[in-house]
Amino acid sequence: MAAVILDGTKIAAEIRGEVAAEVKAMTAAGARPGLAVVLVGHNPASEVYVRGKVKACEEVGIYSEQHTPPETASTRELLALVEELNRREEIDGILVQLPLPSHVDSKKVLLAVDPAKDVDGFHPMNVGFLATQRPGLVPCTPAGIMEILRRSKVAVAGQEAVVVGRSDIVGKPVAMLLTNANATVTICHSKTRDLAGVCRRGDIVVAAIGRAGMITRDFVKPGATVIDVGMNKVTDGAEFRRLFAGNAKREETFRSKGSTLVGDVHPEVAEAAGAITPVPGGVGPLTIAMLMANTVRAAKLRRGALVPAS
Ligand code: NAP
Repeated sequence: MAAVILDGTKIAAEIRGEVAAEVKAMTAAGARPGLAVVLVGHNPASEVYVRGKVKACEEVGIYSEQHTPPETASTRELLALVEELNRREEIDGILVQLPLPSHVDSKKVLLAVDPAKDVDGFHPMNVGFLATQRPGLVPCTPAGIMEILRRSKVAVAGQEAVVVGRSDIVGKPVAMLLTNANATVTICHSKTRDLAGVCRRGDIVVAAIGRAGMITRDFVKPGATVIDVGMNKVTDGAEFRRLFAGNAKREETFRSKGSTLVGDVHPEVAEAAGAITPVPGGVGPLTIAMLMANTVRAAKLRRGALVPAS
């Protein structure tokens, strides 16, 4: 039987609606949340991401501003900018768009962001809050994955969850969130032996690898819930056919655009899984929605409002 499709676009719209209502109430009370985005130089992909984030802010009523230092900006200049944003009362969230130019010490710049304004949740202080289940700011994509599971009523407590990928921005934090939600979690990576066998144990499988269609049907226990975080652009014809042969709609896109977007999970998995997130339209839309939610959360935490740990 075909898997239930977990519609990330719909869930993200729900969250944005809830965030907009909170922003409206906070603004009326004189505490409009504010986000500052720092975009260094002219990376076309980063420019697209930042445009999306600023537009999403406008839609939910969050105040936003962009800072666009030139490509030549030094680590010291960026540190000065971050420190200025740390000091400003009306800024609740600071987002430094990565990657920074290679001459910049990215870790130093990220470490300078006030943990209370770290809406990406990358600061070691927030990583520690997550590990010890204290209120803090959780990275957006992992937080979005948990929202998909929660709002789709996928059972997590007591379930076997397998996370493929151990990056600081997706794999590790989502494994920690699943652990905190009482799943039994296995983290896999490029050195894992018998990856397919380990994945087949999972009632929930999260694929955050960065390899087009790597998780095939033999990796998935029938009926499992599969969360596909991957976003891979396929331009090679043979690769395209391996993934989408016979899919008329995708063939049309590929012919007209010369590329198509695919996750880390092979489309054939939709025939074995119980539920699955599509790409596009699965995890992706949640990432920006959770950035908005995190900005509101930062505003509340900074103002001392009682916010339960997530
Ligand atoms: P990353 O930092 O490159 O990490 C990839 C992880 O996958 C690493 O832990 C790596 O293992 C593991 N891996 C690579 N090849 C493997 C293999 N053959 N077998 C088992 N494990 C393997 O990537 P990331 O930043 O976590 O992103 C992962 C994917 O999610 C990418 O496609 C990215 O574009 C996408 N993404 C999407 C969103 C969204 O909003 N939808 C957000 C963030 C990322 P090692 O640690 O051993 O190298």
